[in-house]
Amino acid sequence: MSATATAAGGTVSAFTRPDMANALIEKSAYLLDMDGVIYRENALIAGARELIALFQEHQIPFLFVTNNSTPTQEDLVVKLAHLGIPDLRPEHFYTSALNTADFLRTVQPSSTAFVVGEGGIVSALRDAAIPNDNFRPTYVIVGEGTPTIEKLNRAHELLERGARFVVTNPDNWCPVSAEKTRPGAGALAAYLEASSGARPYFLGKPNPFMSACACKRVLAGRPDLTPADVFMVGDTMETDIRGAIEFGLKALLVLTGSARLEDLRNYVYQPTAVLRDVGELAAAIAAGTPLENFYERHGLATAGNTAGTGTGGTAGGDFRERPSAERHQKSPPEIQYRRARPAMTK
Ligand SMILES: [Mg+2]
Repeated sequence: MSATATAAGGTVSAFTRPDMANALIEKSAYLLDMDGVIYRENALIAGARELIALFQEHQIPFLFVTNNSTPTQEDLVVKLAHLGIPDLRPEHFYTSALNTADFLRTVQPSSTAFVVGEGGIVSALRDAAIPNDNFRPTYVIVGEGTPTIEKLNRAHELLERGARFVVTNPDNWCPVSAEKTRPGAGALAAYLEASSGARPYFLGKPNPFMSACACKRVLAGRPDLTPADVFMVGDTMETDIRGAIEFGLKALLVLTGSARLEDLRNYVYQPTAVLRDVGELAAAIAAGTPLENFYERHGLATAGNTAGTGTGGTAGGDFRERPSAERHQKSPPEIQYRRARPAMTK
């Protein structure tokens, strides 16, 4: 696979903080978003396989962290094995469904729930011994899925009667392909919020409870590491990057998913660093060499709110035209959305 060449010989071009390189191997742990970071449309993104192999080889703690509440941990083990990343275990995955179950178990262990959702959320609540309740639940829980109108009507009735409103994740839409999205749990929650007047509470990224639980898991058995040693690697500013920054984690943005470089100026929070893809992170770890500044390398303004200004409007568009982009399995022009989309979350 071309990703091998990427990991071994690809350019390393990302970091804005010179002190970060030394932390890459010796004292660090990684939380990894999946869609847009590890794979896209059932194909691995360049460097993903090599990155996980490096983590496994060097016993670097890592955990996949996804807002998709539909799959179980076992489902994700199988999916990544089919995509070409073997030897993972269920404990390598943490979903917003598990985060929702952890939340209810923490705040009210004796609660019951009416669930609008499928797969992972149902399984997570069962494992947490939170009973299903169609009559007088403590919580109405909305997750990803394709509910019937009857199910939504029942959820509406229960919310009107006073059930508390919890949603597994705030994503209004989810990518299906480069050209297609589907409504997410956030959109379903908006429907029920409009009908019932109940205000939803969102688990998953960027809720700090998600970051806290994920950190606890990835750092289990590693008393030498703290959350300050944890990197979050993600493609979405509103969820991955915001959730990391607000919890005090280092945030690496990759440009293989939803975020575009020229969009960074629209956010009050900023990633610690920007990477073209996870292949660059794999190359950095493998080489153990200092990392160049992404913005300088691509002739852009320094990170943050000035990205895309004072550079003749070349931010983002400039690097995409470079031949090196062709080495990627899903090069940036192929994955860019053609029309403006609403924010991933409120
Ligand atoms: Mg993503």
